[in-house]
Amino acid sequence: MGNREAELIGKIQRLKEQRNAVILAHNYQLGEVQDIADFVGDSLQLSQSAAKTNADVIVFCGVHFMAETASILCPDKTVLLPDINAGCPMADMITAERLREKKNELPEALVICYINSSAEVKAESDICCTSANAVPIIEKLSDVQEIIFVPDQYLGHYISSKIGRRLNLWPGFCPTHMRIMPEDILRLKQRYPEGKVIVHPECRPEVISLADKVLSTGGMCRYATQSEAREIIIGTEKGLIHRLRKENPDTNFIPASERAICPNMKLINLEKILWALEEMKYQVKVPEEIRIKAKSAVDRMLEVV
Ligand code: SF4
Repeated sequence: MGNREAELIGKIQRLKEQRNAVILAHNYQLGEVQDIADFVGDSLQLSQSAAKTNADVIVFCGVHFMAETASILCPDKTVLLPDINAGCPMADMITAERLREKKNELPEALVICYINSSAEVKAESDICCTSANAVPIIEKLSDVQEIIFVPDQYLGHYISSKIGRRLNLWPGFCPTHMRIMPEDILRLKQRYPEGKVIVHPECRPEVISLADKVLSTGGMCRYATQSEAREIIIGTEKGLIHRLRKENPDTNFIPASERAICPNMKLINLEKILWALEEMKYQVKVPEEIRIKAKSAVDRMLEVV
């Protein structure tokens, strides 16, 4: 660690105590951000730890919809997103207005939204889910005739094939996971014949069909510590490799694609965390009317998991 980094970390730690702040970081954040965080996890784990924290301030190192989810769950806390431009292109592929139009087309349908969606979209939805709990949540809805699933068509496609039922899918996708191609997996399988392939359900179906396991990032971390495999090919955003290597120094983790990097997740760094705590910005606050509706979709999810 260089002097500058050590100095920044010292300043962040002091300010964090003064503000009674907690730093939450998604598994796709830069290594330096993960290393300073109080908690690192996937969207589900982060929303659960936001719901539990006693801190007054949550510095959310992730993308905008994640900070919004923290604000939905903790209206009395100050939620800071260190770079306000850290959005999620998938979440932006649907708006509340377009979802309302879809609901008018299928008035009987239940709406399930992936957590990667805006607070307004969550407010228009019945239940929220993450990649960690989507399958058990939808499995429990066997008596529901029609389901609209937004916005990730590939996660929706994966759930649909897993539980053998048709879902009305929204045509959204994650541009980062789209960069992982079946050829990447085939090439690495040849190179590491003993290696296991684990991929995220946001990947293309052709990639998913080549995997040994399909897991959320939290599920990948558990798999890595429990598996006997010493070579694991990782089909998700490359940032997760930092944590996997740190927690499992004897395992060789191979990114499925060097191009699977989410530019939005990489906008946050130590300087921006320090500025966020110094200037108490950028504050993410969901208006109360939307928050109450969105919270009921998130609460229904948290009841199940
Ligand atoms: S990795 Fe994909 S889904 Fe996640 S924030 Fe980036 S664009 Fe959105």
